[in-house]
Amino acid sequence: MKPFNLEVFDSLVDQIAVLDMDGYIIAINTSWVNFSIENEGELQKTGIGNNYLAVCPNEVKDGILQVLKGTKDNFNYEYPCHSSNELRWFLLRVTPIKINGNNGAVVSHVNITDRKLVEIQLKRSEQLYRHIAENSTDFISLHTLDGKFTYVSPNCPSLLGYSPDEMVGKTTYDFIHVDDIKKMKSFNNDIHLIGEIKTVTYRFKCKNGKYIWIESKYKHVLSVDKVSNEIICVSRDITKNKQKLIELEEERKLLKKTVYTDSLTGVFNRRYFNRQLKKAFQEYFQDYIAFSLLVIDVDYFKQYNDTYGHKTGDECLIKVADTLARSVRENDSVCRIGGEEFCVILPNTNKEKALFLAERLRKKVKELKIPHINSNVSSYVTVSIGVSTKNSIYINQDKLFLLADQALYESKKSGRNRVTSI
Ligand code: GH3
Ligand code: MG
Ligand code: MG
Repeated sequence: MKPFNLEVFDSLVDQIAVLDMDGYIIAINTSWVNFSIENEGELQKTGIGNNYLAVCPNEVKDGILQVLKGTKDNFNYEYPCHSSNELRWFLLRVTPIKINGNNGAVVSHVNITDRKLVEIQLKRSEQLYRHIAENSTDFISLHTLDGKFTYVSPNCPSLLGYSPDEMVGKTTYDFIHVDDIKKMKSFNNDIHLIGEIKTVTYRFKCKNGKYIWIESKYKHVLSVDKVSNEIICVSRDITKNKQKLIELEEERKLLKKTVYTDSLTGVFNRRYFNRQLKKAFQEYFQDYIAFSLLVIDVDYFKQYNDTYGHKTGDECLIKVADTLARSVRENDSVCRIGGEEFCVILPNTNKEKALFLAERLRKKVKELKIPHINSNVSSYVTVSIGVSTKNSIYINQDKLFLLADQALYESKKSGRNRVTSI
């Protein structure tokens, strides 16, 4: 049976050796012996009686000497010691000891492989994230729930002009365009949607004062401390795409306007009339609410052209069209369907209301007081109007138009400058 202190010494898993004041090994524990044997018999050099200073690397030798001299309280040294089939790291620790009144040292080797592997993994993932963050055209940010930046990736200056320090602590609202603030409300409010990725586009003011379009994909996540929620956000500059979209949208609007607008008068054209009338019929079969159609024709317009010339005739048509368009309600559509002939579709309008509106239009045109000395009905330009109403499932598009045309014919026949309904 070994003495108690040797039992303890040998039971330690760390490899321990005791050195005298000159660095000679005067005691080793079982772990030290086993390690030496397992690592191809270095025991001749590291067993009792050998001078440890002769076998250790120079930087370790210096550390041990300082501890032995008493100029250092302790000395620590981490080193790799990989075997043929496993990666290993050790911490060499040297602490002073007194042996019979002389300086000595305790040298221990502690296996720190597990800690080292975790450190390496962490370092690798940090390097990886840094590499992604620095080389990505996207920038990554973390926010508190009230929108404050708590982290901004290091590529931020190249994209926005701000250093991360200039952004951290501020909120997104300090940078975004005032017109986009409403859109950003969801950014903070979707707290209940943990894990769900949302997208928002907005204008962001760069350091040079210019706004760029940003698209952010964000989600609410539980923070690292698992106490509160935070927002993780990946954003990119979409200015070029956005500009293209705006241009396309403007082009589309312009095209739509051109396709459906009468080039002379600026009111809707026949193509639009056909489309709207079809739509009105579809709507009728959803709610069966009556709607009406007006056909408006300028009286004695041939004479007008003959008297004042074609150019003045054009100007007259522009004025009439403009007056009609200004005098109808918001949802009514005034369309020029040919020469001096206009149609107005009146949604949600029964015969009585349509007659009232038609009469108003007739008066408005006459009140323009465009001289027409060769008109047989007035000294001013006038219009005749025919009214028909879709108030029955038996009236189809052609029929509705025919009825309005017949009513117009009646207005013409009975003296012009009047309204007739069928
Ligand atoms: P009514 O009272 O019966 O409608 O007689 P009206 O002379 O108005 O009818 P008519 O159909 O005989 O003549 C229409 C004239 O409208 C003939 C044509 O020269 C003229 N017109 C058609 N389109 C245009 C246009 O774009 N500009 C001008 N200035 N005149 C046009
Ligand atoms: Mg006509
Ligand atoms: Mg006419």
